[in-house]
Amino acid sequence: MIKKKYIKLFHVKPGKKIHLKDYDTGWAQTDEFKDFGKEKVKERANAVLEQNVQDLAQVQQLLYADDRYSLLIVFQAMDAAGKDGTIKHVMSGVNPQGCQVFSFKKPSSEDLDHNFLWRYMKCLPERGRIGIFNRSYYEDVLVVKVHPELLQNLPDGKKGTSFWENRYEDINAFERHLERNGTVILKFFLNMSKKEQKKRFLERLERPEKNWKFSSADLAERGHWDDYQEAYEDMINATSTDWAPWYIIPADNKWVTRALVADIITTALNDLNLKFPELDDEQLKLLEQSKKTLNEE
Ligand code: ATP
Ligand code: MG
Repeated sequence: MIKKKYIKLFHVKPGKKIHLKDYDTGWAQTDEFKDFGKEKVKERANAVLEQNVQDLAQVQQLLYADDRYSLLIVFQAMDAAGKDGTIKHVMSGVNPQGCQVFSFKKPSSEDLDHNFLWRYMKCLPERGRIGIFNRSYYEDVLVVKVHPELLQNLPDGKKGTSFWENRYEDINAFERHLERNGTVILKFFLNMSKKEQKKRFLERLERPEKNWKFSSADLAERGHWDDYQEAYEDMINATSTDWAPWYIIPADNKWVTRALVADIITTALNDLNLKFPELDDEQLKLLEQSKKTLNEE
């Protein structure tokens, strides 16, 4: 487990106004490892990840058996920040039957003909399961804010000055509703530097086996970097709540990202104190009878 004091560095306290530039995208040091250098930290992070992957597999079984809570994990980030890799590594030990990943791309015309939360509501995790949103309803206050021409057809008067504030409010209310119904919500913004994105894009262009990952549209979005940073900052400030907190995860070092995310998820599930359901006397008696029947066959 990573010490709570480090996790606290990345948790956005509700009501606190954060500035993204205060968050170190390349953070990789803890006090205890400061003297050891990067390789040692990497080794330690990988050990934490491995342990958490095992723990997560265990606690997921409990989540399933307990059948009261569900877990919704939201990932948001600029392109190439490592959402896919993080999901792949962190969930590698989890039983696929108890976990679903949804990747949200551009909305269809059917989606656009509904309220903006509609398409996400259909994909929420059932009780006992983990649902991962690879991009989410937060795109509706990010990409849509940066490119307002993407906005749904809305009646006159609905796009007034408080439009984005209203969407944040809707999102908070939506998440509150989910929390009240037994959904635990964790939200991760993978915070990568512009310099690191350039490095990763160039890698995608230079290495043939990575070419498929590159899209020239990603480069166009990079052109709006500052607008996105501002949109992320506003969004995080408005929507980190007690019932659905944001974590700003340093994303320039992939092993750091993965270890932190795995640790936060495992800790949140462990904190639920889940238990295997206990059978009552009647049910225990039935088990005894079944055992007897089988043994007498
Ligand atoms: P990858 O790591 O594979 O690039 P990705 O999540 O970036 O993963 P893409 O297919 O490249 O997937 O991009 C999805 C695109 O869909 C993004 O540009 C995103 O901004 C856009 N998108 C997602 N949700 C919405 C939305 N609600 N409205 C408009 N665009 C959206
Ligand atoms: Mg992309």
